[in-house]
Amino acid sequence: MTIRVWDYLAEYDAEREDIIDAVETVFRSGQLVLGQSVKGFEAEFAAYHGVGHSVGVDNGTNAIKLALQALGVGPGDEVVTVSNTAAPTVVAIDAVGATPVFVDIREQDYLMDTDQVASVLTDRTRCLLPVHLYGQPVDLGPLVDLAAKHDLRILEDCAQAHGARRDGVLAGTTGDASAFSFYPTKVLGAYGDGGAIVTDDQEIADRSRRLRFYGMAERYFVVETPAHNSRLDEVQAEILRRKLGRLDEYVAGRRAVAQRYAEGLGDTDLVLPHVTEGNEHVYYVYVVRHPRRDEIIERLKGYDIHLNISYPWPVHTQTGFAKLGYAAGSLPVTERLAGEIFSLPMYPSLSADAQDKVIDAVRQVLAAL
Ligand SMILES: *Cc1c(COP(=O)(O)O)cnc(C)c1O
Repeated sequence: MTIRVWDYLAEYDAEREDIIDAVETVFRSGQLVLGQSVKGFEAEFAAYHGVGHSVGVDNGTNAIKLALQALGVGPGDEVVTVSNTAAPTVVAIDAVGATPVFVDIREQDYLMDTDQVASVLTDRTRCLLPVHLYGQPVDLGPLVDLAAKHDLRILEDCAQAHGARRDGVLAGTTGDASAFSFYPTKVLGAYGDGGAIVTDDQEIADRSRRLRFYGMAERYFVVETPAHNSRLDEVQAEILRRKLGRLDEYVAGRRAVAQRYAEGLGDTDLVLPHVTEGNEHVYYVYVVRHPRRDEIIERLKGYDIHLNISYPWPVHTQTGFAKLGYAAGSLPVTERLAGEIFSLPMYPSLSADAQDKVIDAVRQVLAAL
């Protein structure tokens, strides 16, 4: 049987009644768009984070886009982020007309090297956009200091970090605003697309709400452009409400999978994820590293085990971003690690049996290299 790098079918089997009930609840509610489920989910997601506001939107990319716009970021502004991220982080910056500016990552945890941020600031820098990649939070302390000194906004990309903490503080609660994705594979995943903006700032929340609804403050009257139709779907919102109650369980499940990998592979020459001191990792993906990555992936295909690479091409090397003018070699750690990283199957309902097959196969492949 094929072991996929991510799968939700076992989870669906276990939660089917609740999911079907969520769908039925919305279908019978009499209000299919921006109804009680979106309102309820927004209140509960904000409460989970202990912040004032959450605004449900249609996906994570648009959560970033709308949040940037709500923060006043637009054409001519520069936004500092990383190139080792899901491309949508950067697609969203570009889509609001701003210019992405990259800093390199740290070798030990693949996260933004915050020491480099000061050196790329210009008088056009408007926003810092750290990505809590793979499920581990960036240390925001240095960014908060820089933001205060240079009057910058901070937007956290939390698409991979639902429930992650640093020094006890939940990802998404430090910056001016945060953007979440509920794409099915995420730690909190919908049965389709979804996203949210989280903020403690009333003005940013109000603006985000208008921007997702044609720019209207009340029906039929546009007060703000450029605007969008970026509403969170009512069915997805109801499913997310049910699943939010189990978020901490999903995280515990992912940690158990990570623990089993560490026990099964800790003595090999594979570099396993390093949890930076102070961090509580939620293992959105389980990223390992080896200089002979491509051979390992090729050989594991023979065992019917699927692996993934997050991400094979740093964003600055992709054709669509050639216009930014980053030459090969400009982000050396990002570029080198992109050739070595790959991800093992990771999701909370991955069975111990399947996981042991992965561990055995990886051990055999490594031994035969
Ligand atoms: C998934 C993801 C996004 C985009 O979310 P979508 O819901 O797919 O639009 C943005 N940033 C990061 C880091 C992601 O992992």
